[in-house]
Amino acid sequence: MGATLDALHRLQSIENRLRTVREQIESRRKTVHARQRRIAKLEHEIADIRNTIQQTQASADRFELDRKSRDEHLAKLREALNRTKSNKEYAAILTQLNTEKVDILKIEDSVLAALAKVDEEKKKTAATQITLDKEKAQLAEVTQASTEAETRLAAQLKDLDDQRAQAASQVAPSVLAIFERACERHDGEAMARLEQVHPKRAEFVCGGCSMSIPLEIINALQSRDDVQQCQSCSRILYLDAPASVVV
Ligand SMILES: [Zn+2]
Repeated sequence: MGATLDALHRLQSIENRLRTVREQIESRRKTVHARQRRIAKLEHEIADIRNTIQQTQASADRFELDRKSRDEHLAKLREALNRTKSNKEYAAILTQLNTEKVDILKIEDSVLAALAKVDEEKKKTAATQITLDKEKAQLAEVTQASTEAETRLAAQLKDLDDQRAQAASQVAPSVLAIFERACERHDGEAMARLEQVHPKRAEFVCGGCSMSIPLEIINALQSRDDVQQCQSCSRILYLDAPASVVV
């Protein structure tokens, strides 16, 4: 292998490590963000439940108020019933009184139903609050661990950036440009090993995209310190060892 390919391999190896470190940083940030989103969702849920409690309590209060005024009306009807002189009037007031009693029972049921819902929603709030508190404690731990890891990874990143700059300076600018373009195109994998399809046949494919590679490219790689690219995927091709081909 020639000096240029040697230098490109060094560059590729540093590039791989750089990407791994960047992915670790990104993955930690994603974990923190996912937890933050979960917390925001729980806080939203609690706010919704509290809103429901407030509304249900308000309707229970309204029912209660209605019941009181109907109780007063009922007392008046009872008094009127005692004062009545004719049977006809008595029967009419009694009907009113009974209707009012039925209505009051219905309203009492509504009060009880509303209060039961308030209780149920309060239990829900308490349970959600416990989950929220746990999530917040975990977030604090994860954030601290993530901050510490990021400091450590940032140092590694800086070191690798320096190494990459050093390795890049060993490569001709035109070759470096080819490398960078292939990196961008293939998520940092700028190089591809040539793979021999059959041990006895001089047929090679690109290890990156599996497209067939012409023999003159193999010959060029064996004889010169050339940069050869796959015509299909543009990765920089290399042979692990000189290929012993029986043509
Ligand atoms: Zn290819």
